[in-house]
Amino acid sequence: MTSPFAVPTEARASAGAYVGRFAPTPSGYLHFGSLVAALASYLDARAVGGRWLVRMEDLDPPREMPGAQAAILQTLEAYGLTWDGEVARQSERHAVYRQAVEWLLDNRLAYPCTCSRKDLATYPGAYPGFCRDAGHPLQDAAIRLRVPDREYGFVDRVQGRYVQHLGMDVGDFVIRRRDGLFAYQLAVVLDDAWQGITDVVRGADLLDSTPRQLYLQELLGLPQPRYLHLPLLIQPDGHKLGKRYRSPPLQPQEAGPLLLRALRALGQRPDPALAGERPPAILEWAGRHWNAERIPCTLTLAEAQLR
Ligand code: GLU
Ligand code: ZN
Repeated sequence: MTSPFAVPTEARASAGAYVGRFAPTPSGYLHFGSLVAALASYLDARAVGGRWLVRMEDLDPPREMPGAQAAILQTLEAYGLTWDGEVARQSERHAVYRQAVEWLLDNRLAYPCTCSRKDLATYPGAYPGFCRDAGHPLQDAAIRLRVPDREYGFVDRVQGRYVQHLGMDVGDFVIRRRDGLFAYQLAVVLDDAWQGITDVVRGADLLDSTPRQLYLQELLGLPQPRYLHLPLLIQPDGHKLGKRYRSPPLQPQEAGPLLLRALRALGQRPDPALAGERPPAILEWAGRHWNAERIPCTLTLAEAQLR
């Protein structure tokens, strides 16, 4: 059962030139953590003459902040991070996601689940598979992907080998929510393949999503990109630099100094002579001197700022 999404070997982009991407969720403005991710994926692509694409992950309209899409693109421009081609939008890709869900259902790789959050509250951890063989109708149900009882792992360019047991650590996971919204895990693999992405460079908060994505790629016959998960920026109190602790939105007039700070957070050693330079000059230098092997596995915010 070859999926209708399968990418034939000869057409696989990984055989050719580098294609990278930055995939922001327009739920808010870009902050320092997003700059680090955007900059690293940009430089990793540009350093080898590759293409760099931007994809808006606007899958969840209720969580979208009005004006965020335009603000994100303006910020990228102000920081000199110019992308190739048109900006892709997940909101325009629903037909493909729908087809994939139907194909997975038809092949019994996925099933409708009617468990409420309350039903599951007493079972922390992996979903216990209550609805696996229940044969619920599709109406008012979430769709879960059946996961195999085995490990999925890969070698990350920065974090090294990472392995998860999909059955024990993750469990059957949602690919379409009960309210009809498609899950990030499904959309991301279809879009990375559709855009011919060879290299995913993103924050380490998505490291533990990657085995699920590998499994979906295998089912759907999609090529597996290389992965580089950046260090998470950790607050001095040990908290991840998440929404609650988010640093302020990036300001256009701070582009130069913040690019230099982001480079240092990525273990690069920008020439002191770049202080006071504008983004194009900084990025040009950074592309020529990019060394992904210097990227640290973890980083506290204080370190990122002091470097
Ligand atoms: N949209 C995701 C985010 O903003 C990133 C997805 C990805 O890079 O795979 O966190
Ligand atoms: Zn269920």
